[in-house]
Amino acid sequence: MKISSIKDIFENKILIDSIVKVKGWIKNKRNSKSNLLFIDIYDGSCVNTLQIIVNKKLLKNNINHEILKVTSGCSLSVKGKLVSSLNVNQKFEVYMHKINVIGWINKPNSYPMSSKKHSMEHLRNFAHLRPRTNIIGCISRIRSAIFYSIHNFLYINNYHWVSSPIITSLNTEGAGDMFSVKYAKNLENNKITYKDFFGKEVFLTVSGQLSIEAYACALSKVYTFGPIFRAENSNTTRHLSEFWMLEVELAFADLDNIIEVVEKMLKYIINFILKNNKNDLLFFEKNLNDNIVNKLKIFLESNICQINYQDAIEILKDNKIINRNYMFLDVELNLDHEKFLVDKYFKKPIIIKNYPKDFKPFYMRINKDKKTVSAFDILFPNVGEIIGGSQREERILYLDKRIKELNLNFNDYSWYRDLRFYGTVPHSGFGLGLERLIMYITGIKNIKDVIPFPRTPKNANF
Ligand code: ATP
Ligand code: MN
Repeated sequence: MKISSIKDIFENKILIDSIVKVKGWIKNKRNSKSNLLFIDIYDGSCVNTLQIIVNKKLLKNNINHEILKVTSGCSLSVKGKLVSSLNVNQKFEVYMHKINVIGWINKPNSYPMSSKKHSMEHLRNFAHLRPRTNIIGCISRIRSAIFYSIHNFLYINNYHWVSSPIITSLNTEGAGDMFSVKYAKNLENNKITYKDFFGKEVFLTVSGQLSIEAYACALSKVYTFGPIFRAENSNTTRHLSEFWMLEVELAFADLDNIIEVVEKMLKYIINFILKNNKNDLLFFEKNLNDNIVNKLKIFLESNICQINYQDAIEILKDNKIINRNYMFLDVELNLDHEKFLVDKYFKKPIIIKNYPKDFKPFYMRINKDKKTVSAFDILFPNVGEIIGGSQREERILYLDKRIKELNLNFNDYSWYRDLRFYGTVPHSGFGLGLERLIMYITGIKNIKDVIPFPRTPKNANF
């Protein structure tokens, strides 16, 4: 017999009064004064649980007496009749005909995920069991739907997915903060040896941008989507050592063109989540006291406000956050500045553009003023920067000047410079940190809770 998912049942895809088979895990169990036992089960297809009504009298004629001993967390297979519920809080329930325990909970008293509420910090110690909680379940479904919607948006807009390498010798973002993967560890003659494998220093990638620029200069519209590794020693609520980044690269495009793509994409994603993960969002709304649905709807209705870097500095001067006497070219926005702008001043997502060249990597296109670059960051309330992008320097003379200024090695970038020698085109792109976007959409405050097995300094358990 086909297994029905709880999601299909709650979406009215299964006929009332039909016999269904459902498999899942117990969330709660209650005895009634009458001869009934109520068991709520979940199967991960949605946030809802399905109530199973067990008639204890029926059990007497059945060898299935063991069912009375189940505890939360046990896995079950249930066959029964689907009926509409008289209880206003749930639309459906199942009258049990046959029930089997698939897996018991060993020592129920010490089961770490018993139904009482745990803090997010506590749950991090049980990264292998925490997906069983409602909150991590909701985050996981939304995370998956966001990935799907991004691929979908890019596919229908004719972008090609390019797999950029994870092992690389280049550091896109300038020096430092990379994980080395120099050595091969082998077992030879019962002895472990370490050998320089590639014959030069290589690292786990911090960005796939340079690689996809090569593909954008042939396929026009491309993206890469994969894990990114950064050895930055920042113990914050918004940094991971391993995270996921979407990078999009568009040929024949300037800064305004690429900002338009980002905005369209963000709206597509948020619209998709509002439509397909409404119940997951409502769960956060109820449990985190955050008006998430409304926040997302407002986002859909307006365009993101854009300001120049120079104007952002002016706002900070006017509000006495930074000293009047500083030149905007000499002040690098720090986290506190960003927080003031986005959380206190604008109170909504903002785009800051045209940054001083000294605060940005070598590949960004120099503006006419020769002091700023055609770059933008998008900052979101409570999360900070989620997206960073720029127009890339397509003119070899300017690119070489920057490589020299920053003391980078010309040999390392010879293939990248070739792209400017042979049929160069203006092109632009951006990088979006997936976990930070998930934080914004769900309202979850710590990045460690929106990725399955977080890696941070001194922490690579599980
Ligand atoms: P931040 O200033 O917040 O450290 P960044 O300037 O280093 O960010 P980029 O190098 O521009 O970020 O990377 C692009 C995007 O990747 C960022 O906008 C952010 O969403 C995400 N990101 C960067 N570093 C991390 C990290 N350590 N963990 C999770 N996401 C990150
Ligand atoms: Mn950083």
